[in-house]
Amino acid sequence: MPTVASVQRSGEPPGLAGTAKPGTEQLRRQNLLAVLSALRRVGPQSHTDLSIVTGLASATVTAVTADLERAGVIERQEQTMSGGRGRPRVLFARRRSFAYAATVQISSDVVHYALADYDGTLIDRFSARRDLSGTPVAFLAELAAALQRLLERSRLKPQDLAALSLSSKGIVDADGGRLVWSPVFGERVVDFSLLLQDLPGAELSISNETLLVAHAQASRRLADRQAPDFSGLVTLSLGHSIGLGIARPDGRGGLAVTAPNFGHMLNAVDDRLCRCGSRGCIEATAGFYGILRLAFQVPLDTIPAKFVPLPELEKIAQSARQGARMAQYAFRQAGLALGQGLSRVLSLHEDMPICVTGPGTRFYDLLSGGIEEGLRQSLHVRLNGLPHIEIDADEATLVSDGHIDRALAAVDQRVTALR
Ligand SMILES: [Zn+2]
Repeated sequence: MPTVASVQRSGEPPGLAGTAKPGTEQLRRQNLLAVLSALRRVGPQSHTDLSIVTGLASATVTAVTADLERAGVIERQEQTMSGGRGRPRVLFARRRSFAYAATVQISSDVVHYALADYDGTLIDRFSARRDLSGTPVAFLAELAAALQRLLERSRLKPQDLAALSLSSKGIVDADGGRLVWSPVFGERVVDFSLLLQDLPGAELSISNETLLVAHAQASRRLADRQAPDFSGLVTLSLGHSIGLGIARPDGRGGLAVTAPNFGHMLNAVDDRLCRCGSRGCIEATAGFYGILRLAFQVPLDTIPAKFVPLPELEKIAQSARQGARMAQYAFRQAGLALGQGLSRVLSLHEDMPICVTGPGTRFYDLLSGGIEEGLRQSLHVRLNGLPHIEIDADEATLVSDGHIDRALAAVDQRVTALR
């Protein structure tokens, strides 16, 4: 993959590229990234629109787009005006075949694979059940074979892949490319960086799933020109485990996203044992197994199951909706733990809207009373009112969108890297 720095800049004779002052080079790189990320978020745009969206002067947009076009990173598209009269409008677009990104979403019993081009268009996707009895080595072999298949189906060569983005439940060592603790393998380490042996052009990234969701939800708001005053949001993911992401503008046109360990934040001094070994974590009350344990009055130091099937929770929810007291109590307690935890997040940060996602959203009617009660227990919420809460149940699409956008942003960083 060529970088823009390796291509001669517009208006300069050959041989001068890279000899400018370091500060100038840094500024040029920022401008390149601003244009690339505007095209990634908003899609193909005219010269005028690019100038408006990025805030760059018209002459700067001319220089930047010329550099990117020369390096083969972007291309011109002609858009015929309605009625077919007059000169067609010229739009700049990311060149789709410039680079490809593969995403791998590892969930409890299935792995989702997807392939996107440089424009962010999804080219192919498939899912495969995973062998839960296997070893980390066998699992890596499964992943390598599936990635090979993903590339072959689109007639791509291994070296065409510029980014490999993985997400998994559990605790990841993002810098080392390893999964260090997971519900399936426990403390047996999975070293994903081994996958790069067959993918010479790819850069590996590993993310927490809720971080990807927060990234996707915030990107949608950034791209929405009707809502220009985006200042941040909190994503809450409800399921077997509880995830939380915080996304805010980074002040340079991008996003700063974090995923603090909310599920295992100590919430209350109680005897509810968590999967992590501590007592009183939010997950120990609000994760699916926590709800099941309270509803069936299982001793609080028992972890009922690694994974509670969704139909089990549906049954408890149904009886709660029909008035069963313990089932109602279990959901109320789960909501209370979530609301109290969220109130702490809002007390530490400023007020932000909360987007709730994940399979647990189907029980939101049973959780919402407890969530509001927990939120209202804090001074912050009494003074500022309840935060805006919205539900987006389609977590899979959000994870996939977040994966693709972050993987392509990483490719943009490489393309514009200074020598
Ligand atoms: Zn815990």
